[in-house]
Amino acid sequence: MNLSGKARVAGVMGWPVAHSRSPRLHGFWLREYAVDGAYVPFAVAPDQLAGALSSLRALNLAGVNLTIPHKEAAFAHVDRVSDLAAEIGAINTVTVGEDGVLHGDNTDGFGFIENIRAAATGFDFSAGPTVVLGAGGAARAVCVALLGAGARDIRLLNRTQVRAETLNDRLGQSLIVEPWVGRSSALVEAHLVVNTTSLGMTGQPPLDIDLDQLPTSALVNDLVYAPLETPLLASARQRGNVAVDGLGMLLHQARPGFAAWFGVEPEVTDALRAHIVSDLTD
Ligand code: NAP
Repeated sequence: MNLSGKARVAGVMGWPVAHSRSPRLHGFWLREYAVDGAYVPFAVAPDQLAGALSSLRALNLAGVNLTIPHKEAAFAHVDRVSDLAAEIGAINTVTVGEDGVLHGDNTDGFGFIENIRAAATGFDFSAGPTVVLGAGGAARAVCVALLGAGARDIRLLNRTQVRAETLNDRLGQSLIVEPWVGRSSALVEAHLVVNTTSLGMTGQPPLDIDLDQLPTSALVNDLVYAPLETPLLASARQRGNVAVDGLGMLLHQARPGFAAWFGVEPEVTDALRAHIVSDLTD
């Protein structure tokens, strides 16, 4: 890193923040594109969020990503919010405008769509039913993005059904809520299946689902990226489905922030992926 006095500075605020992969990700792009800039982790306790966000303006920083537990609390401390962030109910990217105005946005849905498009060129989200498993924060971004990309028949299943119903209400009843117990039969005629639960993550049980009724033409996407090959993706691949891991979503969601803060449209390349994967397996 060789910074000049004009260097642009961005970062990630979280509590804790040590687990965040964003500094490694943005650091790769900063080196790759020889940007006069830096991206640093900020450990910001929840009761310090207001002051930390307002200091972006005072310090003339370019902006920040927000991670747990700040994504919802940030609404009270930014000046403008994109329609997407408002719809999803979470802010993960803040940009400081030239006028010092703080803009809040959400790029998780963008990352989700771009990851699938990168893995399956020309994928048509409107071509058939989509099954979304889980109704937590990630599912909110996924469902909003799916609707934006033209998906219409979205079957939402969550262990705690009331949470799925609340998400459906939030999105104007545009989803079809089905019981968690029927997750294997919900796969009939599906074109896309997305696991947004934490099942399959290292240390968690695998997602218990029978893929027999899923057409082999369907694409299966797991948001979990540790491990990269979850039991769900392994079984899908084994029976001939295209299987897409969650790492690409993490990489693609970072693109809009980097472009806004540092003025370069970054690319998600195999080299970037390998750089992050080596950290996952360290
Ligand atoms: P969250 O808000 O805590 O939601 C967790 C979801 O998992 C809920 O739907 C929950 O169901 C379900 N779940 C947890 N344990 C379960 C179990 N034993 N059986 C059935 N369902 C269970 O978390 P989140 O933020 O949505 O994140 C979910 C996953 O997505 C995590 O693995 C996270 O790492 C991953 N993620 C990946 C990316 C990416 O860029 N690839 C981005 C965001 C999130 P209940 O409602 O019934 O508890």
